[in-house]
Amino acid sequence: MSGYTCENFSREMHFHDDEILSNENFQSANFSSAHNFPNTHNSSVAHSDQNFSNEQTAHNSGATLESIAKKISACQNCVLAKTRKNVVPGEGVANPAVLVIGEGPGADEDAQGRPFVGKAGQLLDKMLAAIHLHREKNCFIANIVKCRPPMNRDPSPDECAACSAFLQAQIHVLQPKMILALGRVALQKLLDTSIGITKMHGKIVDYKGIPFMATFHPSALLRDETYKRPAWEDLKIFRAKLLEICPNYES
Ligand code: URA
Repeated sequence: MSGYTCENFSREMHFHDDEILSNENFQSANFSSAHNFPNTHNSSVAHSDQNFSNEQTAHNSGATLESIAKKISACQNCVLAKTRKNVVPGEGVANPAVLVIGEGPGADEDAQGRPFVGKAGQLLDKMLAAIHLHREKNCFIANIVKCRPPMNRDPSPDECAACSAFLQAQIHVLQPKMILALGRVALQKLLDTSIGITKMHGKIVDYKGIPFMATFHPSALLRDETYKRPAWEDLKIFRAKLLEICPNYES
């Protein structure tokens, strides 16, 4: 199994950036373990759950990732519950260096009950690997909504509101060192803003005491190659901040 390097990432991403390719810091991401990550739930991977009536309840409840995931599985709080095949609570390690937050499950995620397992997910794994982040090692991956919006439409304000206590509970339990939001919906819902992703990407801001950055959603990179370069620049900024806060996050 060959190691996954920044050079592989750049080639797939069609980056042409001498600085990236010559930067020692970004040469050694190893994709092999992410590539072998099993399709079924794995004992080394924590899953979240629970249906809290509000954020305060979650904070005081002694919730665990498992209890949060159980609540999500039972949730009927919005119309998405009627059409979902599976809930997608999220997966990754407990106490992660980074919490990655997407928008909501697509068809592949709905079928498997796991986040980011389709084409965008495969690209996300490569983007993360290029900055030494892996869902089975130092990340947790979650979404704004835990059930698939039909036809991959944006989740409605009501659906986001119905799901937000779950994500807040996950953040409270996980205590990530940093948060990486993917795309417009995650950015706008988390920061409660109408500012667009093209304005806010790559900026590190505070989110309830946690350094937070938004970058382009991997689906956007798949649709439009011009987002690849700025996404890579964002990831470099994100990694520099993460190294400052958590110098040993790779080990
Ligand atoms: N897109 C998302 O935002 N989340 C997923 O889990 C999959 C695709």
